[in-house]
Amino acid sequence: MRNFCRILRISFKQRLAIAGVVLSSAFVALLWGLNIGTLYPMIEIVFEGEGVSSYVAKEQEKLDVQITQIDADLEQLAQQREAAANDDQRQQIDNQILWQNSKRELELRKADALAWARPWADKMPDSPFQVLVMLIVVLMIGTAIKLIALTANLMLVQEISERTCMDVRNMLFRQSLRLDLDSFGDNGSSSLTARLTNDVGNIATGINVLFGRTIREPMKMIVCVVGAAIVCWRLLLLVMVVAPLMAWVISVLSKSIRRASRRVMEEMTQMYSVLNEAFAGIKVVKAYNTQGFERARFSRSAQLCYSKSMKASWYHSLTRPATELLGMAMISLAIIAGGYLVLNQKTHLLGIRMTYTELGFAEVLLFFAFLIGTTDPARKLTDVWSVLQRGIAAADRIFEILDQPIRVVDPAEPKSLTGRHQRIAFNDIQFSYPSGPMTLNGLNLEIKQGETIAIVGPNGSGKSTLINLLCRFYDPQSGSVTIDDVPINEIRLRDLRRRIGLVTQRTFLFEDTILNNIRYGTPGASEEQAIQAAKRAHADEFITSKMPDGYQTLLGCGSMHLSGGQMQRLALARAILRDPEILILDEATSQIDLESEALIHDVLSDFLKDRTGIMITHRPTTLELADRVAIIEQGELSDVGTHHQLLGRNDFYSSLVGNDFSSKAA
Ligand code: ADP
Repeated sequence: MRNFCRILRISFKQRLAIAGVVLSSAFVALLWGLNIGTLYPMIEIVFEGEGVSSYVAKEQEKLDVQITQIDADLEQLAQQREAAANDDQRQQIDNQILWQNSKRELELRKADALAWARPWADKMPDSPFQVLVMLIVVLMIGTAIKLIALTANLMLVQEISERTCMDVRNMLFRQSLRLDLDSFGDNGSSSLTARLTNDVGNIATGINVLFGRTIREPMKMIVCVVGAAIVCWRLLLLVMVVAPLMAWVISVLSKSIRRASRRVMEEMTQMYSVLNEAFAGIKVVKAYNTQGFERARFSRSAQLCYSKSMKASWYHSLTRPATELLGMAMISLAIIAGGYLVLNQKTHLLGIRMTYTELGFAEVLLFFAFLIGTTDPARKLTDVWSVLQRGIAAADRIFEILDQPIRVVDPAEPKSLTGRHQRIAFNDIQFSYPSGPMTLNGLNLEIKQGETIAIVGPNGSGKSTLINLLCRFYDPQSGSVTIDDVPINEIRLRDLRRRIGLVTQRTFLFEDTILNNIRYGTPGASEEQAIQAAKRAHADEFITSKMPDGYQTLLGCGSMHLSGGQMQRLALARAILRDPEILILDEATSQIDLESEALIHDVLSDFLKDRTGIMITHRPTTLELADRVAIIEQGELSDVGTHHQLLGRNDFYSSLVGNDFSSKAA
């Protein structure tokens, strides 16, 4: 609930819309009550065969008679008081006098009201049928105004929920991009997708009913309850005895609904994850003929989703019969009590006074009508409850992400690096991934500015991890990565990453033009500069000759129509345009075809001049570019030296460049 309130705080930014919602809801409620209220004159005037004027006159006469009767009673009571034998009797008579006086007061007020209404009543139609027509016209106008207010209300509520939903989505996406990399594990991104889509949707519906029905319907109920209380408040209190029972049933059901809704959302996340995997690996699925397996996996997940949804629906569908039954009990109680009072013309029920004067038929009917008027909003509110519970559960899930602590954050007081760096150092690094064993174990390495260093080693030895630490995707558990002796966790993240150009084995191309893909990360670059970078990366040739719209060619989802080598060259162009101080190639040349290899070799040797280059590679041609080669084995730096030094002394390296590396190396 606390988290849902936090979402509400976001909605409260739209104060004007909320004020509009409250106002239009009040309008709808008032007109709802007034429409029900027209029942009274219909029964009392029209079906009694009267006109307005004659009705008022008759009521005035009736009141006069009653007041005269009360005066006579009061006089008699005064005499009885004089003659009272003792204090007890006197006390009893005093009570009766007090009672009669309040009754007189009430009747006098009614008489005043009638006297005030008389001139208007005299101007109104005096035939019952005309009065009926007039009432129907009033009813129609009332309904029309109510519907206009309702439409405005619905639109405003939608506005609030959609805007809140948009704000929450933006917040969530912003936070998602800040999350530590391990949050994007196998299920990580699908759980984020589920939260960004399904859960935010549930919140929107929750907000919608909260500002819609939850404000409107209780207001309608209040108007009806006030109406019923005006008719006979004591009778109303009597029938309200069912209310606590209703509150208890609703609270029990709502807890179950919230729990069940949470499970549905968890299953939904699971289903998104199955979907994501199947689509992301569609090539493998097809090639290995595992459609059946994927279908079974999805169907299992869908089946679970279905059964959890059915359970939630069961609780949800219980709320309506439960509240309707209790509502019916309330009305039945009212009918029995009211019927008893009217049919027997009594003012007391079970010895308790219910009214000053006997209730009329029209009054009791109006009382029932007001009670029935509360049941329609009550019925609409039963749905609200389960939708709100779903929204509350979704808010909890969304804040799980929004409140997730982020380990890699900007330092409170960032140090700034001035000018080009001189030295990068890994100092006694101990690092393990949150979900794994020790990956780097006391690693030390120093890289000088302008140097190109190649990192080699068997699969899983920690080469990419080293890069992850330098880019500060993770922080080491102990030891530090420093640039010019400043630990990188004391530098602003943007500052650090601005200096780095990263090209990985899997190039990610966005659904945009080739030009914008090259400019990704350097949005200020001109078209000319982007083309220049593409030329340097030897990408220009295939872009202009093979792409249908040259640099304006749109890359589709997954960029299926580009070869691995072409994608790599685009990635290189992107990095070149960024003009980084440190270029990191993480197996970036592994997919480049032989023809490109020589070209890329030239590009890199030219581009890496006066830049620091860190390359994870096993390609002898790329290794040739390196000033030094560092060998990492089992999370430790096992050797470092020049190509020639290592060839002479390191067996692993000799076997690697001796082309006997396919089974050992990355
Ligand atoms: P290399 O690049 O040398 O092949 P990595 O640095 O990628 O090796 O991985 C080193 C070790 O860390 C491996 O055992 C790998 O399974 C593990 N590892 C890599 N990335 C993660 C991760 N995100 N979470 C948990 N373990 C990881």
